[in-house]
Amino acid sequence: SYEVLMVGGGPAGAAAAIYAARKGIRTGVATERFGGQVLDTMAIENFISVSETNGPKLAAALEEHVKQYDVDIMPLQRAVKLVPATQPGGEHEVVFESGASLKSRSLILATGARWREMGVPGEDEYRNKGVAYCPHCDGPLFKGKRVAVIGGGNSGVEAAIDLAGLVEHVTLIEFMDELRADAVLQKKLASLANVEVIKGARTTEVNGDGKRVNGLTYEERSSGELRRLDLEGIFVQIGLVPNTEWLTDSSIELSPRGEIVVDDHGMTSVPGIFAAGDVTTVPYKQIVIAMGEGSKAALGAFDYLIRL
Ligand code: FAD
Repeated sequence: SYEVLMVGGGPAGAAAAIYAARKGIRTGVATERFGGQVLDTMAIENFISVSETNGPKLAAALEEHVKQYDVDIMPLQRAVKLVPATQPGGEHEVVFESGASLKSRSLILATGARWREMGVPGEDEYRNKGVAYCPHCDGPLFKGKRVAVIGGGNSGVEAAIDLAGLVEHVTLIEFMDELRADAVLQKKLASLANVEVIKGARTTEVNGDGKRVNGLTYEERSSGELRRLDLEGIFVQIGLVPNTEWLTDSSIELSPRGEIVVDDHGMTSVPGIFAAGDVTTVPYKQIVIAMGEGSKAALGAFDYLIRL
């Protein structure tokens, strides 16, 4: 058994592992894959102090750094169930799809999140070739170009406002007949000269020339007519889904969006169980933020352990 076990090996889990191992406590990382969403990322230009890198390179560096410490890395392990300790200071248990289970006196849940996809033809083919999900990450790559934002909730409207300051033109596409974003955001959006809003529109296809995105097709829902927009980028903003399905039967408190609620030391509603990164309620899902939160949760877990 472990003193601290990370579930999830993305930036948050990797940072937590390094911070925990440096305290000399028995540390394990069980994860489906090591590196997390970083593995699916192309250019990374906001990893502070490294002006440019890419996903596979950063994931390899993360793994190499973790391997410099005495950490058990258990890849290809998908957690399916969490059984919290029955008494204060007891061991928590994580059960995996393989049937294996691991016990630890503290846990750091870092299973991350995934972007909700449109599920239309061309989306997969042109991912990272014009189809993007993170305006903070990829916005500057579309300087001077035309883009669409899919989704008129808070994140879609925030993305459109953000992108309007960087790109030539933004078309915001909303499925319903009204935007769902806060009124103050809608007002700001309406004040921008290079933004057009199309409501009641269902995106049906991402168009491209075989190499990159060159347009988007949508159905005008009132008439059923198909229309095409010429553009170079599409930001999909229809939701970020936390990977917490495996926790729904546990006593860990989740927010209405399914994110793990943590306090300012990264601790969940169950003593000794911590969480970090995109899977939590902490806002702004980014690599440096996930790493900072993972480090913080590991220090929180260490403080918890020394008080037992
Ligand atoms: P994740 O990276 O999601 O890692 C979670 C890990 O947990 C994964 O390894 C997963 O396999 C594992 N896991 C999930 N469920 C289970 C389970 N049940 N059992 C065991 N293991 C499980 N951020 C930036 O700062 N800059 C960028 O340029 C940037 N570009 C991005 C581009 C793309 C295409 C994407 C998708 C994201 C990008 N991000 C970027 C966001 C960034 O990747 C995330 O904020 C960061 O990876 C979150 O780290 P995390 O460790 O919390 O979660």
